[in-house]
Amino acid sequence: MNTDYLIIGNSAGGIGAAEAIRSTDTTGSLIIVSEEPYPAYSRPLISEYLSHERDIEDMLYRPADFYKKHSIQLFLGKKALSIDTHQKTVKMDSGENIHWKKLLLATGGIPIIPPVKGHDKKGVFSFLSLNDAREIDAFLARGGVKRAVVSGGGLIGVSVSQALRARQIHVTIIEMKDRILNTILDEAASAIAADSVKRGGGSIIVNDTVKEISGNASVREVILNSGEQIQCEMVIMAIGVLPQTELAKSAGIAVNRGITVDRYMMTSKPDIYACGDVAEAYDFIIGSNRLTPLWPNAYIGGRIAGFNMAGAKTEYRGGTAMNSINYFNLSIATAGMVSAPAEENSFETLTKVNNATYRKVIIHDNRIAGLILVGDIDKSGILFGLMRKNIDVTTFKSALLADDFGLAYLPASIRKEQLGETVIN
Ligand SMILES: Cc1cc2nc3c(=O)[nH]c(=O)nc-3n(C[C@H](O)[C@H](O)[C@H](O)COP(=O)(O)OP(=O)(O)OC[C@H]3O[C@@H](n4cnc5c(N)ncnc54)[C@H](O)[C@@H]3O)c2cc1C
Repeated sequence: MNTDYLIIGNSAGGIGAAEAIRSTDTTGSLIIVSEEPYPAYSRPLISEYLSHERDIEDMLYRPADFYKKHSIQLFLGKKALSIDTHQKTVKMDSGENIHWKKLLLATGGIPIIPPVKGHDKKGVFSFLSLNDAREIDAFLARGGVKRAVVSGGGLIGVSVSQALRARQIHVTIIEMKDRILNTILDEAASAIAADSVKRGGGSIIVNDTVKEISGNASVREVILNSGEQIQCEMVIMAIGVLPQTELAKSAGIAVNRGITVDRYMMTSKPDIYACGDVAEAYDFIIGSNRLTPLWPNAYIGGRIAGFNMAGAKTEYRGGTAMNSINYFNLSIATAGMVSAPAEENSFETLTKVNNATYRKVIIHDNRIAGLILVGDIDKSGILFGLMRKNIDVTTFKSALLADDFGLAYLPASIRKEQLGETVIN
């Protein structure tokens, strides 16, 4: 089987690339393969599937006729086993050998399952895919589950906890560090988030980890490192995600923590590109490549890869860590750095606390290097725009955290040139 373009992975990155390829080349043959059996769906929405707020149709990332409309051959439920970079072929588990001219690896991540005693008992799940959510849903439907332990207080752990609370399950989050959501929130913001989780009926234990899951065939109890024992019928492992780099590694493609790519999203091998959670792409805040496993970064990185695969040379401007989420009725928006480096005095941190709202902006070299908004996130768009466009904020720095901060505070030249606003006065 021959194709001009082969995309492995049918999610944010794969779809971004397919759309960019089709906007440049409408006739080249294009195949997308996916190990999952579904058309592309929004992965962050699997918690809403579990909470019964959405069914699969409401999670689809593109309309049902997307593939046909764009002349894309879609192979679902098929796994790519290996890449031959010399012959330019990919071997599939279904026996096909696909010969490609340009290849994209958009294989995402796999859950980290620590070698905890009892992790293979009935009632232990990960939470990364729609199938995971369906399996948990089916387990709950059998009845008898009242308590769950969620190992990991990051984005995935908090999101599955919210879904389980919506299903009336008592949830205890176990977080190894001293606070939940510690990769995106500082101490003050995390404390507000923890209050929301607790108000929503969840419990949190910090500075501890799951040491053992006990029970006969099924989960009955979790034993923590501290010795504390928690009775439960279900455990969700949500301690993190690793880039799914095996295919790349075994093909001799350069891999650091993720697959290494240049500013055109090309890997160390010509004609092979990578994007999304599996790739280490450029971060415009730190000025070098790193993993930023987030949906918008995967999609935009995929688009850049797609343009370049189709011959329209396009440079990736870079992404950064940025989140806009609402868990346990609390809105949170963050981007860039969470805290200024302790030993550096070239950073300035502005904060404002007001009831249950918290705002923080980190400034470096007169530019915004990080922001955290909790409670009221209305101003996140404009602050992120200033950060993204690397705008010197010196002249309006004191207004950045004002309740009514908006475009009106910016000098007209910035509004016009940088933010594209039509300036009347
Ligand atoms: C519960 C949850 C909540 C999240 N919330 C947010 C959020 O609020 N905001 C945000 O920005 N991000 C969020 N994320 C992260 C976001 O979903 C990811 O960053 C995004 O899905 C990455 O897209 P991707 O295309 O790189 O890979 P993925 O979405 O991981 O997709 C990769 C696909 O490739 C397939 N694949 C892998 N290997 C092979 C192979 N060998 N052969 C065939 N197919 C293969 C996989 O089966 C999978 O379908 C969340 C993730 C989860 C799980």
